[in-house]
Amino acid sequence: MKPIHVHAGVYQVGGDGLSGGSDCLCYAVDCGQGEIALIDCGVRSKNRILENIQEAGMDYKKIGHIFITHIHIDHTGAAHSFQEEFPKAIFYAHEQEVPALEGDPGTSKLTAASWYGVEYLPIRIQHKIKGKEEVITIGNLKFHCVHIPGHTTGSMALYCDVDGKRVLFGQDVHGPIMPEFGSNPHDYEESLHKMMTFDADILCEGHYGIMVGKTRVKDFIESFLH
Ligand SMILES: [Zn+2]
Repeated sequence: MKPIHVHAGVYQVGGDGLSGGSDCLCYAVDCGQGEIALIDCGVRSKNRILENIQEAGMDYKKIGHIFITHIHIDHTGAAHSFQEEFPKAIFYAHEQEVPALEGDPGTSKLTAASWYGVEYLPIRIQHKIKGKEEVITIGNLKFHCVHIPGHTTGSMALYCDVDGKRVLFGQDVHGPIMPEFGSNPHDYEESLHKMMTFDADILCEGHYGIMVGKTRVKDFIESFLH
């Protein structure tokens, strides 16, 4: 399977059939001005993801920004090896997810690593997203990093306007809501409502693929409210 072109410089570069079977869907964005951003890292398929970025026509050596949407191992397992390969890259995550991402004592259960039979290796988060929303400018793009608690306490979604379309990286829009993840059903519902207000044209989800069209995006998000 080849990397999937989502929209103007946005590609799906990781996921089942593309990098590794347990990987979440990972996305790479050519932000212009020689800047490449990656959204989530998959479980253990760094090299395949890098090959896919190259195949999509981007120079993977220019990855300078890595957004981690939440702690789960299918999004973070390979993050440590990305950090080793790209020591100058800035890693971003919401402040409430940082203790688990950095491996604070007592947080290991939150990674869900045991589900996948792998060990989570902690990373350093250089840029902690604070509060409800922060806007990060990379190249020609402005990434709105929004706190969407619910699935985990520090889950984060990102959206940016790319060539006339609003692209939402919602990742685990679908949940699930599990007590062992520290999930909160009330917060989750509020976060779904919040994501609907972004009025995105394209939704890049973490497992369900890519939804195109405002109505399709809204319907998908709304389907989890019931
Ligand atoms: Zn998750």
